[in-house]
Amino acid sequence: MNRSAVPERVDAVVIGSGALGASTCFHLAKAGLSVAMLDKAELASQTSPRAAGLSGVLRPDIAMTRIATRGVEKIVNFQAETGEPMEFQQPGSLKIARLPQHEAQVHEDVERGRALGLDVALISFDEARRLMPFLSTDGVRAVMHIRSDVYLEPVQVPAGYARASARLGAITLPNMPVEEILTIGAAVAGVRTPHGDIRAPVVVDAAGAWLRVVAEQGGASVKLVPTRHQLMLTARLPDVRPTQPITRIIDANVYVRPDNGSLMLGGYESDPVQYDMRDIPKDFCIENLELDLAVLRRLAKSVAEQFPVFRDVAIREFRGGLPTMTADGEHVLGPAPGIGGLYVIGGCCVGGLTTAPALGEILSDWITQGRPSSDVSFMAPDRLATQLPEEVLRDLCRLRYAHHYWPPESMPNDAAAETRMT
Ligand SMILES: Cc1cc2nc3c(=O)[nH]c(=O)nc-3n(C[C@H](O)[C@H](O)[C@H](O)COP(=O)(O)OP(=O)(O)OC[C@H]3O[C@@H](n4cnc5c(N)ncnc54)[C@H](O)[C@@H]3O)c2cc1C
Repeated sequence: MNRSAVPERVDAVVIGSGALGASTCFHLAKAGLSVAMLDKAELASQTSPRAAGLSGVLRPDIAMTRIATRGVEKIVNFQAETGEPMEFQQPGSLKIARLPQHEAQVHEDVERGRALGLDVALISFDEARRLMPFLSTDGVRAVMHIRSDVYLEPVQVPAGYARASARLGAITLPNMPVEEILTIGAAVAGVRTPHGDIRAPVVVDAAGAWLRVVAEQGGASVKLVPTRHQLMLTARLPDVRPTQPITRIIDANVYVRPDNGSLMLGGYESDPVQYDMRDIPKDFCIENLELDLAVLRRLAKSVAEQFPVFRDVAIREFRGGLPTMTADGEHVLGPAPGIGGLYVIGGCCVGGLTTAPALGEILSDWITQGRPSSDVSFMAPDRLATQLPEEVLRDLCRLRYAHHYWPPESMPNDAAAETRMT
């Protein structure tokens, strides 16, 4: 690579080519901006391609449900919008309640989903077993079915958006680390790379696990915690069908779905490994992430009554990545605090593949039209410029992770209120 490959000036630089960066790049290029998307690794190669690829519409609040529903719509229409292929399955999903409080939760979910016009219903145990023959309903209290949920091979999202961006004229630069965010006064002026500077009035930090580090280069504080998340795939099993639904066991924090003749299982342990990218060698990539199959075996054991198949099955693959958790469990999207022209998109809380199509669109509208096209005030970056001590921040993020499928009853150190403190 030499200087000639690096543009001198563009309208916007996007740092990171994962699902969130590539979607932002595509929507900016579609809006007519000249864009350069840089990645320190190969394009679309880090956490995004390692995801489970589950895309669900029903979320705990209306604003997130709208965003997730828009995300699924954009996946379904991906090929028409981008010209890139998108293979997906839309078998819907099952949510399994085994505890009384989770039975009440799925009843509320059904009511909320219906009020929002979603096709959700409580279904009989017979129907649940018919849809997902690997499921045993012994000990189950209630099953909810959400009919529009999809799953897909995750790499298609960032790679598809990156190719579509390039076709629209965006410059995509793999193996091109941003070493510095250039500023003039309190505004961004571009980025510094090993092959020269790129001048730009807009810089988007979509650096995934490195988002906090990159924001700090620009003088902004966006505190989130990269957290290891893993999944495994069984050997091929004769009765797996692609049309079997995604199945989530609420109390165990475990999800299962078909994958090319195998079953995939992933989940959220209560004591996940957290990272601080400031302490990690610069050349670290997700390929180097230390994985631990024992975590997945424990999660599989916790659902053995519902999925006896996982008691004794060969594993053909396991993988993991570093999604980022925030103290209040919400994404981060919008202008970075204190630096004009710097925007951030991340804090995915293990849901960024689903939200990327919609959030990239919203951020692009914000940049090109001066305001977001949906209410994303609850994702405001300045709420993460928190003064919380690092240990408290980590505790809150750990708790959010461990409660992915049901809300925590209380927050440690009475810190819930402080999560919105700036
Ligand atoms: C096992 C697993 C299962 C998951 N399942 C799901 C799921 O079912 N549904 C869902 O929605 N989400 C899921 N997720 C979460 C999802 O993968 C993330 O939310 C999403 O990938 C985040 O995308 P990103 O663009 O922020 O990060 P990334 O894909 O990591 O992209 C960030 C990019 O920034 C680049 N970068 C960093 N620093 C710099 C720099 N200085 N200069 C240039 N480039 C830089 C990196 O190299 C990287 O390519 C899962 C995650 C894992 C690990």
